[in-house]
Amino acid sequence: MAVLPLPSFSVKEIFELWRKGSNLEAEEKILELRSVAIALKEENLRLSEENQALQRRNSISSKLEFKEHVYWLDGEGPYCQVCYDRDDKLVRLHVGVRQGLYPHEKRDRWECRVCRQSFDMVATNSS
Ligand SMILES: [Zn+2]
Repeated sequence: MAVLPLPSFSVKEIFELWRKGSNLEAEEKILELRSVAIALKEENLRLSEENQALQRRNSISSKLEFKEHVYWLDGEGPYCQVCYDRDDKLVRLHVGVRQGLYPHEKRDRWECRVCRQSFDMVATNSS
């Protein structure tokens, strides 16, 4: 992030220039002030957007639950751990099957269609 250059003069100096009749110099300083004001406005907008994104992420992070190698949000999901941790993106996972060495060796797993990562499902014994 670039540091904004602040003007090296005060508004009082502009009035002094005007009073002395140096209108052109005074106008140049006013234009410089305007460009600084525009840069500050843009910086303020950028910071506001960054702040909103951070608040959104913080709000989501506090609600995310990491369970069985994947993320869950308010009981919804699962979402890809890699995509969220690396790119701040909640990407839904799809059910896939991992084929083992033998035909009977099939295990359900979660698959991410964005980063191609897969996560073995943890077998639950609830019946
Ligand atoms: Zn992913």
